Amino acid sequence: MAVMKFGGTSVGTAKAMQQAISIVAREKENAVPLVVLSACSGITNKLVRIADAAGRSNLDEATALAAEVKRHHVELVDELIKSDALKKDVSARIELLGGRLEMLIKGVDIVGELTERSRDMFCSFGELLSTTVFAAAMKDQGYKVEWIDVRTVMITDDNFGFARPLNDQCEENVKRIISPLLQQGTVVVTQGYIGATRDGRTTTLGRGGSDFSAALLGAWLNDNAIQIWTDVDGVMTCDPRLVPEARSIRVMTFSEAAELAYLGAKVLHPDTIAPAVQKNIPVYVLNSVHPDAKGTIITNDPERLSGMSYDGLVKSIAVKKGQCLINVRSNRMFGRHGFMLELFDIFARYSVSVEMISTSEVSVSLTVDERSFSDELIQGLKNFGEVEIEHGVATISVVGDNLRMSRGVAGRIFSALKDVNLRMISQGASEINVGFVVEEPEVVTAVNNLHREFFSGPQNRGIFEIPAGSR
Ligand code: ADP
Ligand code: ASP
Ligand code: MG
Repeated sequence: MAVMKFGGTSVGTAKAMQQAISIVAREKENAVPLVVLSACSGITNKLVRIADAAGRSNLDEATALAAEVKRHHVELVDELIKSDALKKDVSARIELLGGRLEMLIKGVDIVGELTERSRDMFCSFGELLSTTVFAAAMKDQGYKVEWIDVRTVMITDDNFGFARPLNDQCEENVKRIISPLLQQGTVVVTQGYIGATRDGRTTTLGRGGSDFSAALLGAWLNDNAIQIWTDVDGVMTCDPRLVPEARSIRVMTFSEAAELAYLGAKVLHPDTIAPAVQKNIPVYVLNSVHPDAKGTIITNDPERLSGMSYDGLVKSIAVKKGQCLINVRSNRMFGRHGFMLELFDIFARYSVSVEMISTSEVSVSLTVDERSFSDELIQGLKNFGEVEIEHGVATISVVGDNLRMSRGVAGRIFSALKDVNLRMISQGASEINVGFVVEEPEVVTAVNNLHREFFSGPQNRGIFEIPAGSR
């Protein structure tokens, strides 16, 4: 059995949805899959804008955007579904969801406040709508399909916007609700990204969370594969939007993939790997536009890894933009214990997560996401010493298991980046990444130089593929 997750672009248009249906149908020949979908591309962003507009009591903007969301799905139905009865049925469902969205807008306007809880409710409509259309379109083509509201399965804590599942309960729900359907040969279509608290309040797992949903569901089902279908040929040596020569990586270890995702490679949500590791289920990252391209296998299986031995140092380069660099300098740090504890307590107090860090005897440099930056945080830090802030920076990390035992990596990195202004350098404790901070306008030069340095050699044949689209 496999879980197949399709991302926003893989279900964003009628053509893409049809392609995804063909991929599911082909898989069904082997084993009946659980299909987990994202919202159509752009829809979650629109829902966030609707929520914000409602919170500001800008009803005109919110309702106009809500009408666009509804229209997008109505158009998908028109293009994809032929049977009149099914069209009527699915149109009524879209109407119902659209009506609820409008009610929510009015409710938030009346209360005059947008809470995290209502924001999650807004965001849930994208996945509810995409799955509704997809399941109906599959039914229209004669497949045995059941649409499941994942909120009856994915029970989470009440950390709205970043909810985490209550594992035991979810596993039991999966076995009770989803497994029997799959065993009867029914394809199950459900939502990624969303869940509900025990008392039925809608939650989300955080942006990009559908990958995580798929991995969790795959682990609870004890599946033998988790397939992440997206818009690129698997995990690549760098984001192809930044480095046009980026290659697809055939195989990588769980630790490499997790590290890469945490360090900013958007192709996988950072939490996707943990459930797969726990049950030792391989994760396949595949391109829905080129379903026959090999994509990437993420596994710890020695047999699969041995056929693909790799003697290069770096496997991939990750970039995280929208960061802010904070330097705290204080002579009080020198030889004093407890200083770091007090300093990091400030970050904890303002719920700011520290991303990359480097320290010396008298200074600490670290990066935080620009969105979590606040003046209160800086005021708190000023009690410790001089504080310098640089906005508009990015972290770049080179990742690879082979970095662990390597010599000369730093030298190669620095020579590749000799013309780039490095604002900070840090080696990850896992020893499989080296990271540094650059100003955002220098990202493209930096990653292309690094890519040339580490991926143009002859050692890379076999493990890296030229993407199917550019063959
Ligand atoms: P989906 O909607 O399918 O979840 P995402 O947009 O979340 O897709 O992730 C896919 C995108 O991730 C790609 O289009 C690519 O621009 C970006 N990306 C960043 N780093 C990498 C990488 N190392 N390999 C492949 N894609 C990457
Ligand atoms: N639709 C959600 C988002 O855009 C979740 C996902 O796509 O994984 O963040
Ligand atoms: Mg994604």
